[in-house]
Order: sequence, then C-alpha cells, then structure tokens
Amino acid sequence: MSRTAWRSKILHFNGDPAHSNDPDTVMAYNDGVLVVEDGHILALDTPEALTDMTRDIEVQHLPDSLIIPGFVDAHVHYPQVDIIGGYGEHLLDWLERYAFPAEIGLMNDKGKAEDTASFFLDELLRNGTTSALVFATVYAHTVDALFGEALKRNMRLISGKVMMDAHAPDALMDTAQSSYEDSKALIEKWRGKGRLGYAVTPRFALTSSEEQLNFAGLLLAENPDVLLHTHLCENKKEIERAAELFPTARDYVDVYKRAGLLTDRSVFAHCVHLSDDERADLAKAKSAIAFCPTSNLFLGSGLFDLETAGQAGITVGLGSDVGAGTSLSSFASMSEGYKVTQMREQTLSPLHAFYMATLGGARALHIDGHVGNFAPGKEADFLVLDLAATPLMKRRLGRANTFEEMLFALMILADDRAVRRTYVAGELAHDRDE
Ligand SMILES: [Zn+2]
Repeated sequence: MSRTAWRSKILHFNGDPAHSNDPDTVMAYNDGVLVVEDGHILALDTPEALTDMTRDIEVQHLPDSLIIPGFVDAHVHYPQVDIIGGYGEHLLDWLERYAFPAEIGLMNDKGKAEDTASFFLDELLRNGTTSALVFATVYAHTVDALFGEALKRNMRLISGKVMMDAHAPDALMDTAQSSYEDSKALIEKWRGKGRLGYAVTPRFALTSSEEQLNFAGLLLAENPDVLLHTHLCENKKEIERAAELFPTARDYVDVYKRAGLLTDRSVFAHCVHLSDDERADLAKAKSAIAFCPTSNLFLGSGLFDLETAGQAGITVGLGSDVGAGTSLSSFASMSEGYKVTQMREQTLSPLHAFYMATLGGARALHIDGHVGNFAPGKEADFLVLDLAATPLMKRRLGRANTFEEMLFALMILADDRAVRRTYVAGELAHDRDE
C-alpha cells in the first residue's frame, strides 16, 4: 500500500452551497491534511487530528497553496482546440465556417485524431481539469483516439460519436441506422475500460432526423450506463430552425423528449433560452445543464438564467465549450459566469462557482460516486493551486480577510499559471514547474 499526504489550505464540497444550509456542505480548511492511499482518498482533517495516520510518512507541506478536487468540464469539443478564437460569427455560421471544417479535417486520419486528442488532454490537465464530457466527431475513430489517449492518462472521461444525418456537410453525415450501429459498437468496445464512460451524442436537433433521434433514445434505453449529451436552446435562430424542422413538437425540449432523450442521464449544453415549460420538463426529468459562459458571450448567444435553473432544482455544471468557448480553464468559466449573473442582476458566489466546477459538474456527469470531492474512498483527482502564481495574485490574495474573499479573487484572477500540480488517481499528472 502506498500512502501519501499533503498539507495546505483545502476546500471541497459535500453539497450545493447555493441551496443547502447544512454545516457540512462546505468544507474549508485554512490548514488541512489530505491523505491518499492507493489512489483513493483516505482522510481529510486538521494536522493534529491526523497525527497517527501520518506518523510514518512524509507530509508534503505546501504553503501559499490551496488543494481542491480536480475541475470537471461538463461540455467541450476536443476537435475544436484547433479553431478556438475564430472571429466574427454567431452559432450557425460559426459552425459552418470553423467547427465543421475542423471536424472534417480528422476524417480518415487516425494519427491526426490521436495527436489532437493527446494535445487536448494535456491541456485539460495543465488547466486542472481531470474529468470532462467531450464531443468527438461523427467519425468513430476520433472516439477511439480520445479514449485511447485518456486511458493512457487514466482519466475519468466521457465521450461519444457525434450523430448527425441531416443539414450538414456530406462529409460529416452518417445515417440513422449507421449512427446507431457505430455508437453501439463503441459502447461495447470501451465499456469497463479504465475510468472511461460513454455518452450518446446527437449534435443537436438541427442536424438529426427524427429517426436518428429515436435511435439515440433506443441506445439510451438499451444501455443504462451511458449518458445523453447534446446542445439545447443556445441561440434564437437555432430555436426558430428547430421549430421549422419539427413542426409538431411543442418546443425544442419536446423534440428530444419525444425521442426518449429527456432523462436523468441527459446533459444539455447551454439552455440559454429555455421557456418555463421547458425548464420544468428538465427539472422533472432530472436532466442536467452545462452552463458555458465564455462560449455564450463569445458567440453572442445570450445570458444563462442560473438562478431560475437552481430554483427549479436542476443540476448545473460548468462547460468550457471550446472551441466556441475561449478558454479551457475553469477559472475563466467561473469568472465569466459571475459576469453573466451580474448582467442578469443575479449573483454567483465563489463557493457556488467552485462547487459547480467540481462536485456540481461531477453530479451532472453522474461520476460523483467516484470523484468531485474528498469523501473517503473516492478517487484522488485533485489540484494544488498556487495562490501566489502572479505578482498581482500574490498581492491581492494576500490582502484577503476571509477564505471566501480569497476564493473570489482567485476565480477572477487565476488561469493555468495557478495550477501548480494536477493529480489523477493519486498520481502526479501535471507539474507546472517541471
Ligand atoms: Zn458545444
């Protein structure tokens, strides 16, 4: 057995601080010790309380640091790392001009897909993201490439083959039947491998026939261990187009609902323009939302209503949505998320933001039984953050009077430079200073 311990400021969550008054919801230590054994959390407490447990091992003391669970990115597209920062479009034109060509670029090219996946996953780890729900492309080999690279890094990662059989470039289209068969084969091929999970991934209502959406629903029904991952109500023109394509559906959510895609294993990216009926449907089905602030601002899609989603009891994680999102860093998602709520005359407290970036995201992705906080027995995916990563951070965070003030300045000022180390299942996976 291998036992290791780290001493630092430590923060994690047992629940949603925006909607719970339980004193154990937020666990913040100004001086705590995290003990890991064989890749899993053994204990977390004050140094004094853990004297016996740490007597015979070296405790790594990390002043000026904060240890938190690894970030969870609840919505991101790996092939789009190559087109991040594409100028001048809103969603539908942006897809045509940037996203689709990038995805076509991986056609029949396993090596390029592996290279892109490898770069993408290293960037996630450099940014402190240890788990993510990831769009691949319509080509099955791009899922193989990502899963292969994630397996090498032992990451808890979820992805799936994009299903699209309508209103897209010919090179990116499958058929309803082939998308079912290819997805089924991928689920069987990767099930039980490492820490990987599968998500049935129709791109969105605009690029799938009703028959294909029904096949996606069949895959969900046949495989109780897989998620559903798609886009919903991101952009007003997209919503108008969905209404034209599915004239008998009550609304956009109903397009998915009729196909059996509105479930407690469904993760819908964006949901910027939900009606009250649609939001109520998501809440009733216990579906989750990936809030993607940097993308929603970059594409001018709109301002997500975080407060109302929370009041409805919907689980919300944070998504980078790269390449429409402008950063793989969860700090950027937290910071821009705060500004979105400000524009809506709502708020996003630092505790709520760090919760969404860790346990909230894990709950949205149904991986909270394994990761997301430091409950004993969980897999030890965690970060050592440098609270003095830049001269400005050192100066500002050093002047914080409370833990929450420090956290808020951190989420506003930090980026990948603040991620000193990333640990995956107790193993060092990224060291900034190496
Ligand atoms: Zn997306």
